[in-house]
Amino acid sequence: MLNTLPKDLFVEQPFQTTVCENVFLEGIGLHSGRFVRMLIRPAPANCGIKFRRMDIGGQSGTVIAHASYAEQARLCTRIVNREGITLETIEHLMATFAGVGLDNAVIEIDASEAPILDGSSQPILDAITDVGLEALPAKRKFMVVTKPVEVQLELGAWARLDPSDHLQINVKIEFDDHAIGKQAYSYKHKDGSFAAELANARTFCQLRDVELMQNAGLALGGSLNNAIVVDDGKILNEGGLRVEREFVRHKVLDCLGDLFLIGMPVKAKMTVERPGHALSTKLVQALLSDTTNYKVVEAGNEYDGSGSFAMPELAAAAMA
Ligand SMILES: [Zn+2]
Repeated sequence: MLNTLPKDLFVEQPFQTTVCENVFLEGIGLHSGRFVRMLIRPAPANCGIKFRRMDIGGQSGTVIAHASYAEQARLCTRIVNREGITLETIEHLMATFAGVGLDNAVIEIDASEAPILDGSSQPILDAITDVGLEALPAKRKFMVVTKPVEVQLELGAWARLDPSDHLQINVKIEFDDHAIGKQAYSYKHKDGSFAAELANARTFCQLRDVELMQNAGLALGGSLNNAIVVDDGKILNEGGLRVEREFVRHKVLDCLGDLFLIGMPVKAKMTVERPGHALSTKLVQALLSDTTNYKVVEAGNEYDGSGSFAMPELAAAAMA
C-alpha cells in the first residue's frame, strides 16, 4: 500500500484509492421514508463502485454504479442490475466519491435507497474524511473527452461535454420562485474544491411540489431536515441558506455525482442548463455510446497525445 499522501490530496494524484476502513452511515430514505443502514467498505483496484443489497443477498443483490446500469429517472439517480434489482438516490454518495477522489468501494446497504442524511454530501464527506483514503498500487485511468457531446430534454434543458485538460462544470438554473430565481456557477474540480464549494449544499424543492410528490408516493421521507423548501419567494428552513447560491451549487454536486457513473474520473468541460438526473444520465450514456467521443488514458500519460489504454475491467464488463 502507498498510503503516504496527506489527507485531502487524492483528486490530482496518479494512483487509485479506497477507504482505509469501513464507513458506517444510517438514516431515512428520501423517497421511501424507510430507515436505511449502509457500510462503505474498502475494495481493491479496478473494482470501481459497487453496491451490495444486503436485504437481497447473493450475487443478484450486486448493482454496479455505472452508466450502463443507470435509468433516466427524474427525481434521483437510479441504477438497476440485470436481475432487475434497483438502487436509488445514489447521487450524493457518487458526488462525494468523485469529490474526494475515491475510486474503489463496495457499499453494503439494507434497502433500495441510500439515506438522504441532511440532503447534502457533508455527512458522507465527514465520515470518509474521518477514516481517510489510501492509495492502491495501481495507476488511475481517466476518460478524456475528445469531441463535443450534447443532449437535450424538453423545456430548454440541455447538457454538453467539451474537451478540457481538467474537469470543470458550469451550471445555470432558472426557477419561477424568487427565492431561487436565476443562478449560475462555474466549478473547477481540484484537491479541496469539493469540500470548500459544494459538499454542504443541500437539495431543494418548492413547497407546492412536496404535496404532488407525496401524493405520488415519493419524497415520503422529505422534511426541512433534509431539503431546503421554498414557497412564494421565501425559504422555509430556519436559519435560511448555508452558503450563497446554495441551490445551483447543489445542482453542480448532482452533476459531479452523475458524471462519476462513467466509472472513472473524467477530463472535460460540462455545461448544463436546467440540470436534472435524467439529463445528466442521458449525457453520460451519449458519451459512452460512441467510442470516438473519448479515450481512456492512464495517469501520467495524459498529455502525450498517443494511444488509448484498455478500459478498466469493470467498465469493460459493464459495457459489454
Ligand atoms: Zn441532489
